[in-house]
Parts: sequence; structure tokens; C-alpha cells
Amino acid sequence: MTYLSASKSSVHLTLSLSKGKTPPISLLLLFVLLLSIAPSSQAQKTTPQFSGQAAYNLTKQLLEVAPKRFNASPGHAKAEEFIKQHFAPEAAKGNLETDTFTATTPAGLQTMHNYIVRFPGKKDGVIVLATHYETNYPLRDINFYGANDGAATTALLIEIGTILRAHPPEGYSVWLVFDDGEEAVKEWSNSDSLYGTRHLAAKWANDGTLSKIKAFIVADMCADKDLNIDQDEMSTPWLRDMLKVAAKNTGHSASVFKNDLPGLGDDHIPFRQRGVPVLDIIDLDYGPHTDATPDGYHHTDQDTLDKISAKSLQISGDLFLEMIRLINQRP
Ligand SMILES: [Zn+2]
Repeated sequence: MTYLSASKSSVHLTLSLSKGKTPPISLLLLFVLLLSIAPSSQAQKTTPQFSGQAAYNLTKQLLEVAPKRFNASPGHAKAEEFIKQHFAPEAAKGNLETDTFTATTPAGLQTMHNYIVRFPGKKDGVIVLATHYETNYPLRDINFYGANDGAATTALLIEIGTILRAHPPEGYSVWLVFDDGEEAVKEWSNSDSLYGTRHLAAKWANDGTLSKIKAFIVADMCADKDLNIDQDEMSTPWLRDMLKVAAKNTGHSASVFKNDLPGLGDDHIPFRQRGVPVLDIIDLDYGPHTDATPDGYHHTDQDTLDKISAKSLQISGDLFLEMIRLINQRP
């Protein structure tokens, strides 16, 4: 980041000035010049830094307290506590909503919870960032941990929340959604999947919230060590284009759009169906594809902490923050 290198120069100069003697005029002029090109505190406010390492550490913590998070399991409840604990300051302000609903699933009625954390901005309109936090119910009898599929993106959004707490949105409000029941309970279909986001999209259609949403951006499986964000055809074209710009601006162009993803079902779909601009930030190409594991590590007991990296979380986090900035610049 440019402001970091500028402030480093200032610090260096300040140190040399403090050694005594009256500095020559040319040095003073240089000092003034450096001060003038150093970004103001306002600029620093709008360029908060995401820490991939912090998001990685949070992923590790979440996996320790809630390794398996399938519906109605103790780990599921622990993951919910983990999310709520991290947003205690927002809860105290009334900005953490628990959206409880009952889902009709092939395994019977299940109580589910979406968590919505609101960071109010100054402009009318909302940017929503969403991730599911639960693990796949059909895989409840194997050691399926979903390090990349659910845990890392939950950590990613918690870390973004930490940044939004320190740097409240100057533009649109930003809401974080930790949604439940993304995975199929038996077998993926329109009625057996996306329970949380289908519920939320319908609720927000009824209460008028949907019309305020400028973009609904999903984080899913974007911490893979070998990260390359897919070009998802179900995402809104202008948001896909913007992601490419965000990647260029953050120096991550090599980490996007190697693969096209046609017709993917994910948490953005219920919002897309209701006309909300949507983007899925996902890398479905996860691990080596073999005869035994045609989908790589996806939905296997190999989706573990060692398959993800702080570096990839850094890339995804940078992309999310840059997307927020770019959406705010849009007329
Ligand atoms: Zn999954």
C-alpha cells in the first residue's frame, strides 16, 4: 500500500531530523513535500488493511471449538456461539440480529439460524457479504470439517467485521450474513439446499429490504492454498467485471477467473432470482481430482486446515474490501 511506504519515509526523516542541528532548507522542503504526499488520516480511514493471518488464526480457532458443524449438532451450536461472541460489541448496539426459522428438510423439521451483523454507513443502501457456517449434514458420520467449505469464510467475514468496527463504512452500510443450511440435507435440489438464504431472501422481499441491497456477495471456498476465483456465470455481469478490476487494483489478477463456472447453485441464487445484483466469490477447483475423489477435497475428509492458507485468505479479503470500495464509487 502506498501510504505505508510514504509513512515509513516520514518516520525515517523525523528520526534523522531529531538528531540535532538545524536542518538545511532543502531538507525542510523535502519534509513538507513528503507530508503533502502522505495520505491524510481520511485516506487511511478508507483503506483499512485486511489480515489474512488473522483470518487464518480465526479459522483454526473455529475448527478447534466446532470441527463438525452439521445441523442440530453440538458443533453447530458452538459455531453459532463463536460468531455471536465475536460480534458482542455489535449485539450491544442492537446491530446483531438472530433470524430463527424452521426448515422443512428430508430429515424432518430443523431449527436454523441466520445471523445478520449490521455496520451502518452514511449513504442509503446496503452491501451484503454472506457465508454459510454449517457443514454438510449427509457427511455427519465422517470427519468432515469444511475448513475451506464454511469455516474459513466464516473467519473471513468475522475479520472483515473487525475492520468495519474500527473503520465504520463511510458509504453504503455493510451487513454481514452468517447463513445456516446452505448445504443439502439429503441430496441437492431446489427444495433441499440454501435453506438460510431462501428464507432470508423471502423475508427481505416482504419487508422491503431487498430494494436497498446494492450487491449481495457470497464468500464460499475461497481459502484454498491454490486459489483461483472462478468466473461464475450465475453472478451479475457488472459485479463480475468489477471483481476483475478489484483483482487488478489489489495486485491479484493472477488469482481470478482461470476457470468458468456454469450454473452453480450457491447462496447468491435466491437473491439473484429476486433481481438483486449478486456475486459469488468461490474457487470450486479444490485439490487434485482423482478417480476416488473426482471433486478433489470438496466434501471429503480432506477439507482440513492444512489445505488452506493465510495467503489465500489475504487475497480473498483484499478482494472483498476492494469490492466494497468500488461499489461505493459506482454512480
Ligand atoms: Zn459444501
